[in-house]
Amino acid sequence: KNILSILGFSCIIAVIALLALGLTQNKALPENLKFGIVLDAGSSHTNLYIYRWPAEKENDTGVVTQIEECKLKGPGISGFAKKLQEINVYLTACMERARKVIPSAQHPETPVYLGATAGMRLLRMENQQMADKILNVVAKSINKYPFDFQGARIISGQEEGAYGWITVNYLLGKFTQKLSWFNLKPSKDDTQETYGALDLGGASTQITFVPQNEMIESPNNNLYFRLYGKNYSVYTHSFLCYGKDQALLQKLALELQGTSEIIHEPCFHSGYLRKLNMSVFNEGFCARRYMSTSSYHPFFDIEVRGTGNFQQCQQGIIQLFNSSYCPYSRCSFNGVFLPPLQGQFGAFSAFYYVMEFLNLTSQEHISTKKLTEKLEEFCTQSWEEVRLSFGDVKEAYLSEYCFSGTYILALLQNGYHFTDESWKTLHFMNKIRSTSVGWTLGYMLNLTNKIPAEEPMSAPLSHS
Ligand code: AMP
Repeated sequence: KNILSILGFSCIIAVIALLALGLTQNKALPENLKFGIVLDAGSSHTNLYIYRWPAEKENDTGVVTQIEECKLKGPGISGFAKKLQEINVYLTACMERARKVIPSAQHPETPVYLGATAGMRLLRMENQQMADKILNVVAKSINKYPFDFQGARIISGQEEGAYGWITVNYLLGKFTQKLSWFNLKPSKDDTQETYGALDLGGASTQITFVPQNEMIESPNNNLYFRLYGKNYSVYTHSFLCYGKDQALLQKLALELQGTSEIIHEPCFHSGYLRKLNMSVFNEGFCARRYMSTSSYHPFFDIEVRGTGNFQQCQQGIIQLFNSSYCPYSRCSFNGVFLPPLQGQFGAFSAFYYVMEFLNLTSQEHISTKKLTEKLEEFCTQSWEEVRLSFGDVKEAYLSEYCFSGTYILALLQNGYHFTDESWKTLHFMNKIRSTSVGWTLGYMLNLTNKIPAEEPMSAPLSHS
């Protein structure tokens, strides 16, 4: 009887043990997650991104995803030169959001990076002390939060291009070999050929891609990476002053030469009026080169009157691209080396915003003809008509889509020499798998060593 009861008892224990094992196996163990924060301090605004990845899979590709994007209210940080004391409040809402979204136990080990781009590059050229001051105040403010702050700095145009390229290709899974299930060969869509990256900001624009067997003739445009055991020789260039806001300022300055206080602007809709003070042309480096001392009167108010003419707008914009000299075998514009375009291109930030407004982001709509037709029609509409049709769009953006669309067409066609044929390689993109396409993810991946390379051929880009 004793033996029987011992056996029965053992059976019950065994069943309980099995049940417990089954339960724990079915119930997912809590995942150990890590977080990272990057602030993109652009020329027109600052965005805060929060990334998350599983701690056990740190080095796997594609595991880092964006869980939050927070837009700071106000201008870019370069706009705080005369109101440094407001920077703290400016940062508060998004930093508080980060504090909420990230579990507090993780705060001390969550790195925060702030990278400033062309708006601050321009300010530094004008007033290095002021640029440093702004970055110091920003750093002091961020340091008050419980995260692991890694510093605020101005990233170079090369870095901006390179990290944008890394982001696109990381999110598209281009860095690791994907073999199709049965024939162990990459399928057509799965080729490991990387995408080029085209980034359009307010103050600068970047082009980055791997050229085909091509010597990169200017060392400044060449970057070497070793990523996941593969070598990449990447071409990159950042054009300062060729972001869409600074390009518009250049265009207006060009228009102003030798005329009175009135600019007739074909890139603005007829009936549209904008008042400017002449000082905007002289304050920054980009437009000032068009100002002769005789035509500059600091206290003049200028009136810009839209005339809504696509062809004239295009002709004027083309003048911003100087192709009269080239010290290399081939150039984009302004004497800058450009190898022949190669492969597919992801075009993001303002490239996307503008094409999205024009309803031209889907692949079947990608052609120069379609874009030209759309702009011809849109630019001709009066400001009143446009405002009535798009009452929900911010006026500051709405008034500039004719210019911006025409600028994108000219930059790609006349600047980078995209043809009707190669235009098909363009993919206008904003997010890939819920993660925004831009330089910030690539920056964080690099600085947290999340892209393994056995032997980097060049010194890794650093955050100091
Ligand atoms: P940055 O601030 O340097 O990153 O530049 C972003 C550029 O995109 C600026 O010229 C902004 O004005 C512009 N931008 C942002 N959102 C939109 C939008 N929805 N439509 C048009 N332009 C936009």
